[in-house]
Amino acid sequence: MHLQALLCVLAACYESVITLNATSNEQKGDAKDVTPLLLISFDGFRADYLEQYPLPNLQKFFSDGVLINQLINVFTTKTFPNHYSLATGLYAESHGILASRMYDSETRKNFTIANSSDPFWWNEATPIWLSVQNKNYKSAAAMWPGTDVMIQNRTPTYFLKYNPKVRFNERLDNLTKWLTEDSLVKFAVLYWEEPDFTGHIYGPDNTTMMAKALKEVDDHVGFLMDHLNQTGLLGKINVIITSDHGMVQCSQDRLIKLDDCVDRNSYVLVDTTPVAAIIPINDSSDLYKNLSNCHAHMKVYMKAAIPDRLHYRNNKRIQPIILIADEGWTIVQHGDLPRLGDHGYDNSLSSMHPFLAAQGPDFRKGYRMKSINSVDLYPLMCNLLGIPEMPNNGSYNNVRCVLLREKCSDLAAVIGIVIGAFIVLTTITLLFRLLKNREHSSSRPFARLELEEDDDEPLLE
Ligand SMILES: [Zn+2]
Repeated sequence: MHLQALLCVLAACYESVITLNATSNEQKGDAKDVTPLLLISFDGFRADYLEQYPLPNLQKFFSDGVLINQLINVFTTKTFPNHYSLATGLYAESHGILASRMYDSETRKNFTIANSSDPFWWNEATPIWLSVQNKNYKSAAAMWPGTDVMIQNRTPTYFLKYNPKVRFNERLDNLTKWLTEDSLVKFAVLYWEEPDFTGHIYGPDNTTMMAKALKEVDDHVGFLMDHLNQTGLLGKINVIITSDHGMVQCSQDRLIKLDDCVDRNSYVLVDTTPVAAIIPINDSSDLYKNLSNCHAHMKVYMKAAIPDRLHYRNNKRIQPIILIADEGWTIVQHGDLPRLGDHGYDNSLSSMHPFLAAQGPDFRKGYRMKSINSVDLYPLMCNLLGIPEMPNNGSYNNVRCVLLREKCSDLAAVIGIVIGAFIVLTTITLLFRLLKNREHSSSRPFARLELEEDDDEPLLE
């Protein structure tokens, strides 16, 4: 009987595990049921700041919801490529925003962060705010990269033109106004420049300045929650707080000077550090050879040899030679260190990873995950909003367990239940046998007594 019980427990657990691994792309169908989603990015919020600094408001936020400790973001780990990946679920090579500085050889156009409003650069992908509008909902944006650009001839329904002087509270005020006054607004995005700004100037190792910047960010989270409460949105919308990349300390002692290795007249430098993009002017093999021998802390790739894992090869905006500095190293042509903190390095480095936290009616409470890919956020958001996904590099299955409606069991808990059940059933079995043996042994004296009555019988045969 105990074997039957054990099989039942195992069958139940197996079912849970199957549910855990199953793909479920069920989406909410009814427009009225769709809970609005507010997505917020604090630029350059390195994942481990959460452990290093007291952030009471942020901690309260994710203790009432979900925390994913690390987002494995996309290469290059720069602001624009990663914000566009969060909004499209695509690697940089697929959405076309590959770096902070780009050059297109066919059109001879240049892209910089300050000169980024030409739709040409953005049109290779469809950001989620446009998909939301395709479903006849409305979207709202406050300074998120790309949201003031006419991508595929459209902007978000409501948006603010980028202006770094507009304070956090003003940005949020606009979004909550749009969310409360227009029930068709189902998606809102907000971008804030800190702690990236402080991280660049002082470097993340300056804990005094970082503590100050992070206290301000945490105060913004406190203001956010108060403001959502006052406007009646708290508990009625889903809120995701995340970031684009981390930050690492740089140093004057970790400079790679290209002028020491190659003639400046032999190439055009499109982007500099920590990923340099180089167009050879004449002989690329000589240039490649000299760059390859330039510095032990700089990797040099011809475009075709860029490693697959970086997903950074299949786009005409990637230049013929790419240089990648090791963590904390800075590439310059000559001169001094430009900034004490930087990002953009290999996306396998944990110093480049941000975090993700979420709270709201659709999210579990007190749920934690170690990591997901940042491109997984896009299918999660599409599912929350009940809109179809455009082709993307993310996976809903990687992240679906953050949602209340998904039947997910903790694999460790399932294993614990199986082991527990096994121990309990084994103990019961042993006790049962012990009791049986006792019964058996207590009947022996009587049997012996019977035997002893017959003295003529030999005891041994
Ligand atoms: Zn950034």
